[in-house]
Amino acid sequence: MESPLYADLHVHTTISDGSDDFEEVLAQAATLGLTHVAFTNHDTVTGLSQAFDLQERFNVTVIGGIEISAWDAAENTKAHIIGLGFESERAPAIQALCGPLLERRFAKTRWQIEQLQSHGIKLDLDLLGRYALQSTCLYKQHVMAALTEAPHGSAEYQRLYRSLFKEGGICERHIPYVDARDAVRAIKEDGGWAVLAHPGQFNNFGLVARLARLGLDGIEKYHPDHGPKEWRKVEQLATEHNLFCTGGSDYHGAFGDSALGSHRIQVDTGTDKGTVHPSTDKGTVHPSTLVCGQRDGSSVHPGLAVLLDECGSRQGGRRANAGRADAGSVHPSSPI
Ligand SMILES: [Zn+2]
Ligand SMILES: [Zn+2]
Repeated sequence: MESPLYADLHVHTTISDGSDDFEEVLAQAATLGLTHVAFTNHDTVTGLSQAFDLQERFNVTVIGGIEISAWDAAENTKAHIIGLGFESERAPAIQALCGPLLERRFAKTRWQIEQLQSHGIKLDLDLLGRYALQSTCLYKQHVMAALTEAPHGSAEYQRLYRSLFKEGGICERHIPYVDARDAVRAIKEDGGWAVLAHPGQFNNFGLVARLARLGLDGIEKYHPDHGPKEWRKVEQLATEHNLFCTGGSDYHGAFGDSALGSHRIQVDTGTDKGTVHPSTDKGTVHPSTLVCGQRDGSSVHPGLAVLLDECGSRQGGRRANAGRADAGSVHPSSPI
C-alpha cells in the first residue's frame, strides 16, 4: 500500500495577507509530511509560477489556487470562492474580475492609514512597507503588524484590531466585492475547480444550490471555523449536488491563528483505495492540531481525485503515480 496523500488546500502567503513566503510554507509543509499544498491567495494568482518551481526541491505538490472575496446579494452575505488547479498565472477572466477589486482594497487600506495618521496614531510606514513588500495589495494585517508586536491571537491584538477596524472604529470601511456567481464563472473560464470556502464562517450554505447550477465543483469541509455540525451540513450538500469536499488550514503564518496542515484532507492510495478523511495518525503529520480523530471512510469523489492527480502529474514522480492509481479506482457515484 502506498503512503496516503495529505493535502492542505487553503494556504495564504506573502503574496496576499500571509506572513510566510512560498518557500517558507513549502519547507514547513515538507517537515510536516504534507504531500500537497494549494496556494489560495486573496484575489490573485500572482506568484504561482515561482511556487511551481519550488515543488521539486521540497517534494511537495503545489496546487495553483486563489480565494476570491465575493458577495452574495441574494442573502446579503460575504462569500469566499476558492479556485483550484490553475497551471499557470495566466488567468484572464480572474484578472479582469479581481484586478479592480484589488485596487479597491488598496485604496481602502490607504484610507485606513490616513485615518490612523490623522488621528495621531503613530504608524511606522517603513515597517509596514516591509511587511507588504511581496504582496499584490495592502492589507489590514500589514497595518496591524506595523502597529503592534502583540501576537495575532492575543487579547491585546484582538482588542486593538476590533477597536480600529470593527465596531465603528476609525478604520472601518467596506468595499464592494465581486458577485459570487461571477467568481465561479471566472474560475471555470480560466480552467479551475470552483469551491465554496468555509460556508460555516458566513453561514451561507444556501449558496451551494445556486452556485452548483453554475458549475461549482466542491465545498470546503475541513476548516478552522468548522466542527462536526458544519461537516455534516457540508457532506449533505455535497451529496445532494454531487460535489467534492476539500479541507485546508486557511494558514496565514503569524498573521493568523491556525497551523499549516492543521486542517486538511487525507487520501489513501494503493490497495485501500479512495477514502478521504481527516487524519488519525497522530504524530505523522501534525501531532498537536488534528482536526478530529475519525475517518469518515467515504470514497474519493472523482473530481477531487482528478484534481490531485493532475497537479501531481505536473510535478511527476511518486506523487503522480500514487494519485493516478487512486483516481482510477474511485467509485464514480460516491461523493465524499
Ligand atoms: Zn476565506
Ligand atoms: Zn483564506
